[in-house]
Order: sequence, then C-alpha cells, then structure tokens
Amino acid sequence: MSTPPPILRDLIGQEHVSRFLAAAINQGESSHAYLFHGPKGVGKYDAALKFAAALCCENDGCGVCPSCEKAARGVHPDVETIAPVGAFITVDQVREINRNLNLRPHESQARVFIIRGAGRFNAESANAFLKSLEEPPSFVYFLLLADRLDNILPTIVSRCQTVRFSPVPAAEIESYLLEHYKTSPVVVQAYARASRGNLVMAKALCGEPGLAERRQRYLQIGENLGRGAWEGGASQMAAEIMSAAAEAGEVAEQEEDETVPEGFQVAPKKRREQDAHRRAGQAQRRELHFALDILETWFRDMMAMATGAGDTILNRDYELELENQALESKLDNYRQALEVIEASRSKLSYNVELELALQAMFYKLQEVL
Ligand SMILES: [Zn+2]
Repeated sequence: MSTPPPILRDLIGQEHVSRFLAAAINQGESSHAYLFHGPKGVGKYDAALKFAAALCCENDGCGVCPSCEKAARGVHPDVETIAPVGAFITVDQVREINRNLNLRPHESQARVFIIRGAGRFNAESANAFLKSLEEPPSFVYFLLLADRLDNILPTIVSRCQTVRFSPVPAAEIESYLLEHYKTSPVVVQAYARASRGNLVMAKALCGEPGLAERRQRYLQIGENLGRGAWEGGASQMAAEIMSAAAEAGEVAEQEEDETVPEGFQVAPKKRREQDAHRRAGQAQRRELHFALDILETWFRDMMAMATGAGDTILNRDYELELENQALESKLDNYRQALEVIEASRSKLSYNVELELALQAMFYKLQEVL
C-alpha cells in the first residue's frame, strides 16, 4: 500500500482516491490521462490541482515547495485549467491546447491540462481533442473532471484511467466544518447532513455570507407549503427565489477575474465582459438549484419524520418544526412533492423562462400537498 505524498494526504472523504493517485506517483507509472468522476462538490478540482502539483514537483508532491504551493492555488504556469465556455468546451479551446501541446514545461517536469466539465465536449471539439489524447508528449498529462460518466463519449473514456469520487461522508464534513468554522455544533451537524456529501456546499453554508439565511428562508417556504400557508401564492414564492438568484448573479458578475498567472495576458475587455455575464448566469442557476436542494431536504425530512425515522432527518436544527408538521397520512403527498421538485430541476437545466418554471413548480406543489 502506497503512502500518499504530503500534498495528496488531505483529500477529505476520498481516501481511496488519495491512495490510488499516490500509487501512480510512487511507482512512477502515471497514466497520461485521468478521468475524475463523481458528484458535485466532493473535491474533484481540488484533487486535480494537488495531483498536478505532485506531477510537477521534483519531490513527487512535497506540499511545501514553491511549485507545489503554486499548483495547489491554481496559478502554476505548467498547470492549465480549461472549462466550458457557455454550454460547451469549444473546438477553439481544444485547438488552442493542440497548438501548444509540444511546448516544453515552463519551469517543472510536466505540463498538466485540467479539463472541467468533460461531459460537455460537442462532436467537433471531442473529435479534435481525441487526437491530443491519443498520443500526448511524454511530459503532458490530462486530468478530465466530470459529474457523471455516462454523458462522456466512450472514445474519450476508454483512453483515460477513471477515478471515482464518492459523496463525502457526513461525519467527515462535520469534523472539517468544526475545525475550520465557528458555527455552533448543532448547526454544523445540520449543514453536514443537509449538504448530502457536497463538501463545497457545506463549506459555503458556513462561510458564504447570506447563504445560511437563504437556506432558512427556503426551509420556511417548505414549511409554509406543508401547512397550506401560501404567503401570496406560487408567484410570490417563485419571485422570492428568483430575487435571491438575481442577487447571487450580481455578486458573481462583479467578482474579480480569476487570477492571471504571471506571464499570461489579461483577456480583452469584451471577453472579460462575456465571462462576467456567464458567471452571473451560472451563479443564478446555482442558487435556483440550491433552493430546490433545500426544499427537497424538507420533504425528505417530512417523510422520515412521518415514518418514525426522526433520527435520520437532514435538517437537525428544524427537528421541532418537522415533528409538528409531519403526518403519516400525508406520506404519499410528500413523495409527490419530491417528484414535482425533481421534475422542475431537470427543466432548470435547459434554457427555459426560469421564473415561469418555478411558478409552475409551486402551483403543482400546492396541488399535491
Ligand atoms: Zn513540492
């Protein structure tokens, strides 16, 4: 069994990944393409940056040299991250990779391309990418990241070592949060469970201003729905979530551009504006999904409570409210509510009128509850 190099030791909740990557490094037999797959928020990108650090470091990932430090922060000149522009990884992005593929590393022994959203190649870009993936120079490594394996072209999958990431166990999330944040233990426990294996979301609940309040607000909407207290009805509830999403979008739009590594040019103004716009759109959708996630936990908890499984509820800080409201006779209604939420979730991924889609969801929820 390989002992992981220092930089790969703290992959939270992904011990098997850490051991697997360590073996590749320690035996000096790294493959030239890896596909990290698993649910959102479990640390795939973090692991990719650290694995890239280990590939670039002269000491296999000591974790303390300038090279490791830069790679882990995502600013190493030999580690490049590519992410979809809009809906896809475009053929232009791939051509850019192909053009530079044979350039020697700037300052280390490897060049690593991290490709986020690897399920979002289109036919043209996938085709162009396969050429690089087939026979990269000996110093080039590709780390592809994707939430799901089944929407990646088989021809890409078959050329990669697949590495599966798991949801982070609630207990590990809990101890991480307790160590890093000042949030009270009972709330930490609720966040750890409610984020269902998504460490990024759990961290955001503790650290991102306003997110914890929005969670409360969405749980309140769930509670009102369950009680038949509509608060101005479906359009009001949809409007409230939309305004939170719009706010999240504005914050993202104003965020600084990602750090530009030394020696790289700042993108032209128009490109930066497009990026800002894209960030805003993504943040808005993320907030909507967050709202649905939270609503979903509410009705899951109602089912748990109604069937006497109160010890398994996710929102531990709402135990009393759940207990007061959950009725065994309404189990089927809760189940239908979950189905309604799930159906809306898939709609939000397409280019629909978001507010109308939300309104439709709340009308249906009122019906089934
Ligand atoms: Zn190092």
